[in-house]
Amino acid sequence: MAEYRTFTTDDAMRFADEHSGLFGEHSKLSCEEFGDGNLNLVFRVENDKGTSLIVKQALPYARCVGESWPLTIDRARIEAEVLIKHRKLCPEHTVEVLHYDAEHAAILMEDLSDYRILRSELIAAKQFPHLAAQLAAYLANTLYYTSDFALTGPKKKQQVSQFLNPELCLITEDLFFTDPYCNHERNNVHSEIRTEAQQLWHDEVLQAEVAQLKADFLSKPQALLHGDMHSGSIFINDENCKVIDAEFGFYGPIGFDVGSLVGNLLLSYLSHFGLTADSSARETQQQYLLEQITCLWQQFSSQFKQLMEQECREPSLQNSLYQQRFMQQIWADTLGYAGCELIRRTVGLAHVADLDSISDSTLRGQCEAKALKLGRQLILQRHELANMAQLVALIQYQQ
Ligand code: ADP
Ligand code: MG
Ligand code: MG
Ligand code: MG
Repeated sequence: MAEYRTFTTDDAMRFADEHSGLFGEHSKLSCEEFGDGNLNLVFRVENDKGTSLIVKQALPYARCVGESWPLTIDRARIEAEVLIKHRKLCPEHTVEVLHYDAEHAAILMEDLSDYRILRSELIAAKQFPHLAAQLAAYLANTLYYTSDFALTGPKKKQQVSQFLNPELCLITEDLFFTDPYCNHERNNVHSEIRTEAQQLWHDEVLQAEVAQLKADFLSKPQALLHGDMHSGSIFINDENCKVIDAEFGFYGPIGFDVGSLVGNLLLSYLSHFGLTADSSARETQQQYLLEQITCLWQQFSSQFKQLMEQECREPSLQNSLYQQRFMQQIWADTLGYAGCELIRRTVGLAHVADLDSISDSTLRGQCEAKALKLGRQLILQRHELANMAQLVALIQYQQ
């Protein structure tokens, strides 16, 4: 296999067999393609003894749109290299990559079929007490150890250039920061919230703040981000959770990863106004989600602070007042990017199933309007909201 071609199930089987040595000489392999993502092919290869692996292949275009949207297959390299680096920094909560093949833009990785995708679990009102603490550990470790606190200047610059990822960043720049704030043809606005969406296109105060958040996304290479930290990129079960799908990884603002995750937990929170009719069940689930958001920030920030205090070898960055300011700025960024996530998932190209699966369209519209309102408040008030208690009060005020 030399030149790139789209894998058939036979190709995926051969690839997995050749690069794993896990299946044994005479084992009978089977294979299915089952990817539900927007961009890539995902195959499961299994032998007759139940051992299985995943082959993910990047297509030279975006799967959800087709060949009219060409997209670099170098994203498979980015995904493999980010996951390998993040796994070194947080092995418990990062999927294991076994092999990466540049010619075929293909990644061989562990099969997480004894886990479930977090988004569907949250839609089904499932609760995982360990969710926030584990993801806080993932974020604190991957982000701290790829930042200036942990790397020398030259090493950091080498890494920034290794993970430039211009094409996938451009998708985020457009879909996250530009389209929702103008009448763009890529937007996907349900008729029930047309008026609220149109208000975004004329909201200059909001647009100025989003421009600032976008400028930071473009020019604040603080740490090696996952870049696509939504609840569809997280596998979970009763014991553990693992992060997958890092093809949007690049050096950017730390608050972007934290905020994307907070934004997705908030989307789940708001969607239960439409998904869960029973008010007591709804309140229980929403309370759980608020506790997870609180715990996520508390544990992430305390671990990151502890790493800064104990591990930083750069004398000028050991200044405790500077470190305090640094955390304060990540907090504000987190709120701002969470707000952008709420807005772009409501009116932009890529919706989330949490909101889209609300069957009553009037009720769905009400939830979407809440997402736009809360998103706007988070962006505008990100420097005023001083702590988690104030954030929780703002969220609870949305009833
Ligand atoms: P995309 O980049 O196209 O979004 P993902 O990496 O998110 O692709 O994978 C798409 C889907 O494939 C996931 O939602 C999941 O169902 C399945 N999948 C991906 N990686 C694994 C894995 N390691 N184990 C089991 N299933 C996986
Ligand atoms: Mg995905
Ligand atoms: Mg997916
Ligand atoms: Mg992806």
